[in-house]
Parts: sequence; structure tokens; C-alpha cells
Amino acid sequence: MNVYVSVDIEGITGVVHGDMMTADGREYDRGRRLMTADANTAIEGLVQAGATYILVNDSHGPMRNLLVEELHPAAHLLSGSGDAKPYCQLEAADDAPFDAAVFVGYHAMAKASRAIHPHTIAGAAVAELRINGRPHGETGLNAGVLASLGIPTVMVTGDGTTCDEARAFLGEEIETVTVKDARGRNAAICRPLAATRPEITAAAVRALANRGQTRRYEPERPWRLEVDFVRMEQCDRAARTGGAERLGPLTVLVSGDNPWEQYRVLWATLRSALYEPAAWLA
Ligand SMILES: [Zn+2]
Repeated sequence: MNVYVSVDIEGITGVVHGDMMTADGREYDRGRRLMTADANTAIEGLVQAGATYILVNDSHGPMRNLLVEELHPAAHLLSGSGDAKPYCQLEAADDAPFDAAVFVGYHAMAKASRAIHPHTIAGAAVAELRINGRPHGETGLNAGVLASLGIPTVMVTGDGTTCDEARAFLGEEIETVTVKDARGRNAAICRPLAATRPEITAAAVRALANRGQTRRYEPERPWRLEVDFVRMEQCDRAARTGGAERLGPLTVLVSGDNPWEQYRVLWATLRSALYEPAAWLA
């Protein structure tokens, strides 16, 4: 049985501040160790439930956060620059026939409140992302894309708002573990590690055992995938990407033959939006 695990950092047990999330942050080493530990507790449950191949995709920022030397020995690690990963948070999800997907340490969508660092893919650039008119965060978007490949998302861990969001998109059957209750963008009541770690393992066991009952999140196709940018110059750059069509000063429509292709175009569009022009072009 093959399982795909996407790991972000904002929804990890004990991580509450940007200090723990970025490579130049004072507490980054603690953040990445906590991230590796939450991933390991999920992997342990997947192994107990019969997973034979587990691919862990480091899905945060530089995508080189997880410590391979401390990672569960049953897992393979996809590590490396997002610039080299056309599908970023879902890179290689189409490589093996995956039987289930698990999201560890995820965060709430842009504009959510009572959430640790809510955003959608890139807070500096994306004001809102919509599929068929409904605002989506990374949980709904990624689960929808995986479902289009036939892969059910069976478990999500993060703060309480993220877990509510997961249930709103994926149904009540989804296994969730709330590891903290956010008070604001940079503060949360963190549950004890001694409580969340065994819960994550137990939830992963149940999630994989019951994967047949989990509802796949499948928005009606073709997807109308729209992105609102924060700044107009970001939209200027994004709209020049193949597959992106400008709808307004801040909005593009992202097209493609299917959701997997749209997801690749989406990341290409966001990369264009985020890249700063050379000085002579600026
Ligand atoms: Zn992240």
C-alpha cells in the first residue's frame, strides 16, 4: 500500500510564530525538529496500518525543512527547492499508484481568523483562490487535485481552524488532529506533545484502515480556477504565463485540460507573480 504525505510547518504541534518557520528565524531549528516529529508520528501510524511505500513531500517554503537523518526509517523523503518541483506541494503524487494521502501540519486558508499564519500558497501574492466560485485553501485545493488522480485524502493535522476547514471540504469522515487552538496569527494554546503525538499515530492508523469510506473531494469539472493577487504588478506578471488569462486588474483564470494540469499552471503562474524583475526592467 502506497501513501503520499505532504508536510507543511504552520500546523505543527508547538509551532506558533514565523521565528520557527523560516530558515533565518531564531527558532527555525526547533520548528523543523518539531515538524519532523509530527511527520514521524503520522508515518508510524501508516506503517502500523500496512503502508509499504510512504513518500513524504516537504511542502513548506524552501522545501528542505524536514531532517532526513531524523525521519522515520520507513519513509522516503522528497526534499528540495520548490523551483525544481513543478507541482510543489503535490510533486510526484502521480509517480506511484498512491492509495491515500495525508496532510500533516497544514494551515487555514487566506482570510481565515483564529489561525496560525493563514494563507493560500503564498500570502505575499495570493489574496484569494477560488474553484468554481468557492474560496479554497491548500487543504481543499490539494485534496481536490489528488482526488482527480484517484487518491483520497484521509487525514489532516493542524490548528483547530484548519481542521474545521478540512471537515468543511472533505466531510465529517476525515480524520483530523487539532494540535493547537490559535488565538491569533502568532499565538496559540498548544496541546501537550505527549497528547498530540499518540493521537496523530492513532488517527493515521484509522485513516488508512477506513480509506474506502472517505469521501473524495471532487469539485465539478472543468474547474473554474481563479486567483486574486495582492498587488497589480504581480497580476501583470502572472497573466503572461501560458494557461493564465487575465480577468481583471488583480485576477487571473488558470486553465488546463484537467485539475492536475491546472495545478502545474497555477504554480507556474505564482512563480511568475513572485519573481522580481531585473533592475533594468523594473
Ligand atoms: Zn508552509
